[in-house]
Amino acid sequence: MKLTLQGIGMTSLRTRERMIKRLSVQGIHNKKILEIMRDTPRHIFMDEALSSRAYEDTALPIGYNQTISQPYIVAKMTELLLGSSGHLGKVLEIGTGCGYQTAILAQLVDHVYTIERILPLQRKAQSYLWDLKLKNISYLYSDGHLGWPDYAPFDGILASAAPAEIPPQLLQQLAIGGVMVIPIGMSGQQTLQRVTRTASGYDIEELEAVTFVPFLSGKE
Ligand code: SAH
Repeated sequence: MKLTLQGIGMTSLRTRERMIKRLSVQGIHNKKILEIMRDTPRHIFMDEALSSRAYEDTALPIGYNQTISQPYIVAKMTELLLGSSGHLGKVLEIGTGCGYQTAILAQLVDHVYTIERILPLQRKAQSYLWDLKLKNISYLYSDGHLGWPDYAPFDGILASAAPAEIPPQLLQQLAIGGVMVIPIGMSGQQTLQRVTRTASGYDIEELEAVTFVPFLSGKE
């Protein structure tokens, strides 16, 4: 899928190419992910005051006490989710936030189902993603603990907020052979985990230490 960028001010290609070089030095190898991140304007997902910092490798505030994940984390989680399959059908995302991770996923998988518990954040994300003409996305204003049973099972689940433990409903909504990428743990001691559902249970891999906002209950 090629993004339509008409009418959207792009920062220089050089800035985005620098970001991609940095990501490959940091160990991101999936060429398709790197190309998509090179071609997706990250600055349109933030307030103008911060947009000059959009391509730095840092998390930045998006309002309501939330942050946009740093480019490395977006790339890493996407790479872990795709694994060797290179392609996924239905993907559930918990924590739409500003919509940047959603934009990357929507260009790699058939359909993204994204849940957010802060309505104004999701509305804003939806308008940015609409501007990018990304239409294979469904939005739900809800508590991600519940998943989205109407469309389960999912081939992939990606959470960008950290619960203390994996919510059981999300485990149930993962297809056999499906993969979930999720940060787990209390603030200051979180690890990124990849859960693969097999015919007989779940394989859990503990990966690197990470820092995410908490996975909260209920809606705001
Ligand atoms: N990928 C997003 C990350 C935003 S931060 C981005 O790059 O912008 C994490 C998001 O998860 C926040 O928007 C927060 O409101 C949301 N979140 C936290 N707990 C949640 C829950 N239980 N259900 C849905 N969204 C949740």
